[in-house]
Amino acid sequence: FETSLDGILLAEPGGLVLAANAAACRILGRSQAELQKLDGLALMAEHDRAALYEALEERERNGSFQGQLCFTRGDGSVFDAEVASTLFTDSQQRVHSSVVFRDVTARNRDLERLRLLESSVERLNDMVIITRADELDEPGPRIVYVNPAFERMSGYTAEQVIGRSPRMLQGERTDRKTLATIRAALEQDEPVSAELVNYAADGTPYWIDIEITPVLDHRGTCTHYAAIQRDITERRRVEQELRLAANALNNTAEGVMILDHAGCVVSVNPAYTRITGYSAEEVLGNASRTQLFEENRGLLAEIIALVRQQGHWQGEFIGRRRCGESYPALVSVSNVSAEDGAPGYYVVVFNDISDYKAYEEKLEYLAHHDALTRLPNRFLFRDRLREATARARRHDSAMAVLFMDIDRFKNINDSLGHAAGDQLLRELAVRLQGCVRETDTLARLGGDEFTILLEELAAPGDAAVVARKIMSALTEPVEIGGRNLFVSASIGISCFPGDASEPDELMRNADLAMYQVKEDGRAGYRFYAGQMNASAVRELTMHSALHGALAGNEFQLHYQPIVDVATGQVTGVEALLRWNNAQLGLVSPADFIPLAEDTGLILPIGQWVLDEATRELRCLRDAGHPCVRMAINLSARQFRQADLVDSIRGALSSAGVDPLWLELEITETMVMDGAHDTLAALQALHELGVSVALDDFGMGYSSLGYLQRFDLNYLKIDKSFVAGIPRNEGAVAITRTIIAMAHGLGLRVIAEGVETQEQLDTLREWGCEEAQGYYLSVPLASDELRRLLANHDVLPVPSGSPPTGDARTLRSNS
Ligand code: C2E
Ligand code: MG
Ligand code: MG
Repeated sequence: FETSLDGILLAEPGGLVLAANAAACRILGRSQAELQKLDGLALMAEHDRAALYEALEERERNGSFQGQLCFTRGDGSVFDAEVASTLFTDSQQRVHSSVVFRDVTARNRDLERLRLLESSVERLNDMVIITRADELDEPGPRIVYVNPAFERMSGYTAEQVIGRSPRMLQGERTDRKTLATIRAALEQDEPVSAELVNYAADGTPYWIDIEITPVLDHRGTCTHYAAIQRDITERRRVEQELRLAANALNNTAEGVMILDHAGCVVSVNPAYTRITGYSAEEVLGNASRTQLFEENRGLLAEIIALVRQQGHWQGEFIGRRRCGESYPALVSVSNVSAEDGAPGYYVVVFNDISDYKAYEEKLEYLAHHDALTRLPNRFLFRDRLREATARARRHDSAMAVLFMDIDRFKNINDSLGHAAGDQLLRELAVRLQGCVRETDTLARLGGDEFTILLEELAAPGDAAVVARKIMSALTEPVEIGGRNLFVSASIGISCFPGDASEPDELMRNADLAMYQVKEDGRAGYRFYAGQMNASAVRELTMHSALHGALAGNEFQLHYQPIVDVATGQVTGVEALLRWNNAQLGLVSPADFIPLAEDTGLILPIGQWVLDEATRELRCLRDAGHPCVRMAINLSARQFRQADLVDSIRGALSSAGVDPLWLELEITETMVMDGAHDTLAALQALHELGVSVALDDFGMGYSSLGYLQRFDLNYLKIDKSFVAGIPRNEGAVAITRTIIAMAHGLGLRVIAEGVETQEQLDTLREWGCEEAQGYYLSVPLASDELRRLLANHDVLPVPSGSPPTGDARTLRSNS
């Protein structure tokens, strides 16, 4: 009774306390004396009366009661007690009672705490596993508790795992190293956290974030481990995805730039830097310069607006690198919306497509050019012709198509092989290119066919000029494989708008005209018959007639006397070419000399003039006129000829006359020709001993100062100035100046085209030395000249007096 740790009270039948043990006194905070004779009911808490009466009733019924009741201590405080009370009878049959009780306030509090804790853990979304710590070694700590979250996640029921090792949750992908780290920490009773793969009951792996805390008992010994696990499979997946995306972004060849809603650069990838030359540091956070499309800033704003509407845009841009270089870029811009409704981002993906562009251009070039000659091909020519026709129609201008075919090309191909044929075509392409302006289109249609498109023609006849140029470009042989090939071509010309108004028709007509040339014996050109207007016809006939003129003896020289204005003495004659053709009649040199120049025929003709004129000079000397010099006109082409001096020397020596008596007339433009070494050519003539006159002076643009460098003897004032004497002030001023300056340079002056006595007198007055013109004598045929000289070695050139009858006779004679 006295040694019991529980309080024990004995009560007599009335309920008064009979005895209390020491434990009861301690628990109730009352002394033995206080308790004895105290009504047991007074020890019970007021507020718990209902429970008390129930307990008393139960004891009355059953003889005993067990349960919890609330007691009051001596100081008035209350406590929960676990109570067992029994009724018993003594020898006098009186009913006594015993009450055994213990204070369970603390236990109740603990139980309450446990209840709260447990319900929290059970309701937790994170998984909780508690294991026993005493068996760290094989087979590992035993699981003593798992919460429902664990059961849900793993698919195991608590019964399936309790008592087993947590190893059952691990598998192939569970990282051994992480496990070792955890184990090491736990051995030191240290809390530890890690990320780990566990496996569900069905074998599915899932990632957890695990946090293990050692649980210590009151002695500080670790008895359990409490592990809280959170499923992070989704987080890991997103992270993995992000890692992959970042990796892809870093390694892609395309430049990527991410702009925020305000246009600030948020991110760029390495390809961006490689393409643009701007480092990430330079552009990040930079709103004003997106460092991509400097040139098209306005456009970028437009695109952003479009992307805002449609979510996407793709197109080509001209980008600009940091170094200033620009490049074509293929760009796509998309809108990426943010999750929480915040303003989104713009993802700009771009590619430097320079290489692609170059390739595209090359393809384009190949599609439109002939691989052999690099000239435009049939397709490009068609395009250009179509465009040109539209243009010509709009501007009311003229144009022409030349259709050219190499004569007997098949022979060359057959006999010398295709390689030689190709080489010939290439060479011809180069020559043809030299015959047209840059704005004209020269194309190879295929085979040996070429076409030329001439735009903005002043007159249809200009097409003939090009055709003649081509013919003359072909007179030079083409050297192939050490062999000189002479090539000719047949050219058909059709004009817009005269011959045709549609491109196809123009081509067809030019082709027809070309065939006509072939039928007429090749090597020539011809306008489409429908168009052949009078002047073109005449030009055309002239051209073909000129070819036969030399052989047909159709040329003749006339000689116009040149006279000393002071004495009237005939000092020389100018040989002037006359062409008398049966079909064309008398053709002016002004008309046919340019034609002869274009075709190269001027060279044989010039040679003929030279031979004929020196022969005449010989005859004049033999006839007793030793002091008359012969003036010959040289054409530009003749003057440029390398063997000019040789052929002159040859002509002089075969005629047997001294170079002293030969005078060569050249024009300003010939002297000014920068491509030719004029200085050396004139020097050579000078050394040969012939004299040189500058013809038609005043018509070109040269200054006398410039001419000072050259070896010249005479200066011929052009007849247009002489015609203005004495009334046209400008002509007067120019003529006087020319004379004065020519004298300053030591040149003798010859006035051309003197038609009146007045002009003659004025020129003499100004100091002009010599003159020629209709007033003195028209150009004369050889026999007329000889007659004139025989009778009048000296022409009357009276000063101030009316022309003499002789002079008149002379003029009417001629
Ligand atoms: P040019 O050398 O200035 O020849 C003078 C031209 O003036 C000649 O015209 C002559 O007939 C003409 N003429 C002479 N006196 C008068 C006159 O009082 N009044 C007028 N209005 N004209 C006069 P043509 O013979 O028609 O020759 C024209 C041009 O053709 C020459 O101009 C010359 O540049 C060129 N030419 C003539 N023969 C030859 C030749 O054999 N070879 C070359 N390369 N050119 C020649
Ligand atoms: Mg002349
Ligand atoms: Mg002249």
